[in-house]
Amino acid sequence: MSAKDANTILQKAAGGERLSPEDGLLLLERAELNDLGAAALAVKNRLHPEPVATFVIDRNINYTNVCVADCDFCAFYRRPGDVEAYVLPRETLYRKIRELAAIGGTQILMQGGHHPRLQIEWYEELLSDLRREFPDVHRHAFSPSEIVFFSKLWKLPVREIVRRFKAAGLQSIPGGGGEILVDRVRKIIAPKKAMTDEWLDVYVQAHAEGLKGSVSMVIGHYETLAERIEHLERVRQVQDRCGGLDAGPWTAFIVWTMQPDHTLLEGKIRKAGAVEYLRMLAVSRLYLDNIRNLQASWVTQGAKVGQLSFLHGCNDWGGFMMEENVVSQAGTVHRVQIEQMRRMSAELGLTLRQRNFFYELIDAPPEPVAAG
Ligand code: SF4
Repeated sequence: MSAKDANTILQKAAGGERLSPEDGLLLLERAELNDLGAAALAVKNRLHPEPVATFVIDRNINYTNVCVADCDFCAFYRRPGDVEAYVLPRETLYRKIRELAAIGGTQILMQGGHHPRLQIEWYEELLSDLRREFPDVHRHAFSPSEIVFFSKLWKLPVREIVRRFKAAGLQSIPGGGGEILVDRVRKIIAPKKAMTDEWLDVYVQAHAEGLKGSVSMVIGHYETLAERIEHLERVRQVQDRCGGLDAGPWTAFIVWTMQPDHTLLEGKIRKAGAVEYLRMLAVSRLYLDNIRNLQASWVTQGAKVGQLSFLHGCNDWGGFMMEENVVSQAGTVHRVQIEQMRRMSAELGLTLRQRNFFYELIDAPPEPVAAG
C-alpha cells in the first residue's frame, strides 16, 4: 500500500464515507500525521459547524479505592483491609459536591474500585441521597466494569441493576474500564475485569433503559494497531445497533494514553507520546462516524497537546476536573485553568462554551465585539 492509497482513504472519510477496518488500519500504519489531522478536522467541522470548543465542569469522585480486580496498570486501588483502604463517608462526598457547585460545576463522575462487600441497597441509598441533596448536579457514575462486577457479586442481571440504579438517581454511565476492547489484551492487563462482550453489553442494557454514556480507549500498552481498530469497530457496531448517531448509547469518545508510572507496568511498556496520541485521535474521528463528540485528553497529555487535539478531530475539552485520583497518583498532574482553555481555544478561532452532559450549552453566549 502506498501513501497514495492512504490519501484516497482520507478523501473518502473527509467526504463522509464510512471506513472499513482495513482502511482504518492502513491509516494508522501509513498516513502522515498532517494529512490525518486535516481529514479529521474536516469531519469535525461537518459535525460541529459552529466555531465552538466546549467543556464541562465536573468532579471526579472515587467513592472507594477498595478493589479486588488487581489491574497491573493501577496505582490507585487498595486491597480490602489495607490501612489506606477507604469508603468515603457522606459528609466528605457532600463537601466535595458543594465545592463543585460553588465553582459552577454541573456533574460528578463517580467511580470506585470493585468493592467486594457493598450491597446494591448501599448504592441505591447513595444515589438517592445525592439526588435529594444535589438535584441539579448530574450523576455520571459506575463504569461498565463495576456494573459487570456487581452483577456477578449480587447475582443479578445487568439490566436489573441498571434499572434500579436509574430509579435511584443514576443519569449516565462513564466509559471507565474499557481500555482496549479485545479479550486478548484484557486478559493480559486486567484479567479479572469485564471482558469485551460483557463491557459493551452494559451499554446495550443501559440504552434499553434510556441511559446514555461515554466510551473510551486506552492506548500504549500491549495492544497492536489492528486491535485498536478492532476496538473502534466494536464500538461503532454497538452504536449502530442501538440507533446510530445521537440515538445510540454514546454521546462522546475519549482516547487516553496509559500512565504506567508507579504501577506494575512501569518499565515494561513504552509510553505512547503526543504524536501517537494525535494519530489515534484523528483515526478515531474518521472511523467513528456515528459518535458526535470527541474529547481532548489534556489530563494525560497536557494543555498544549490538548489544544492540538482540536486540529485532529476533537470538539470538546472534556471535564475541567477538580480531582483525578487515579491519573494524578500515577504521576501525571496537569491542570488547565478555564481561562487558559479560553485563550487556547481562541488561538484556534474557537469560542469556549460551558456545556452539560448532553452537550447543551449552558453559559451565556459571549458579547459580540463592537465594530469600529
Ligand atoms: S483500574 Fe479500577 S478495577 Fe482496576 S484495580 Fe484500579 S480501581 Fe480496580
